[in-house]
Amino acid sequence: MKKQIIRISGAALILLLFLFYIFPNNPTNSEGGIVTLTFDDGLKSQYEVVFKEMQKYNYKGTLFLLAEWDGLFEGRELMTFEEAKEMQNSGWEIGSHTLDHLSLTTISDDKIIEELERSKEILEKEGFEIKTIAFPYGIYNEKVIEETKKYYSASRPMEEGFNSIENPNFYHLKSKWVLKKHSSQEICFWIKKANKEEVWLILTFHNIGEGKTPWDFSEQKFKEVIECINKEGIKVKTIKEVLENEKRN
Ligand SMILES: [Zn+2]
Repeated sequence: MKKQIIRISGAALILLLFLFYIFPNNPTNSEGGIVTLTFDDGLKSQYEVVFKEMQKYNYKGTLFLLAEWDGLFEGRELMTFEEAKEMQNSGWEIGSHTLDHLSLTTISDDKIIEELERSKEILEKEGFEIKTIAFPYGIYNEKVIEETKKYYSASRPMEEGFNSIENPNFYHLKSKWVLKKHSSQEICFWIKKANKEEVWLILTFHNIGEGKTPWDFSEQKFKEVIECINKEGIKVKTIKEVLENEKRN
């Protein structure tokens, strides 16, 4: 009798450990938040460092490419369209970052339309499926949004904050810019907050690696952010995946 009780409680203990193993951070039935990792400009480091690191966890992000750019961007090498295609083929979303990184509020209406329409056209001709855009420097005005609605399903300007999951404003997506001044702990704090409060956090990254600009975020810190996402167990989605979810609901 005693042996049987020990055997049963042993089995219960193993079952309990198994349940903790498969639901490590989900003690309640909450849905949790969403995190989207977005990368601007299509820099080489985003292919060489980011893509490789995120593949380890099977995480997909959103990459915003310049459709017409030759050589270096602000002194940094860009990835090739072939490399970006490899990312798309593995589930990444590719979006437009316009043709040539002009500030959209300083150009004529015709030029705004060209930047939005032509960049999409060129990237689609290259084989990318373009649904979203990130404005250069995050700068926009009402005319830009009005035109964006004709060609894209969502845009990410520079607006600071978290998004609602149920009812996001897809043309005014809020994000948190990840800058050199941030520690990985600060980013981890946003991730935990998004998961706890069940909101959608979009992170905006630029170069991953050492550098002199405020937008350079070190490889080590980036790896720590990815580890934090994994530990927290928050859902990782591209903007397109959130859009598609929205349409189904
Ligand atoms: Zn940019």
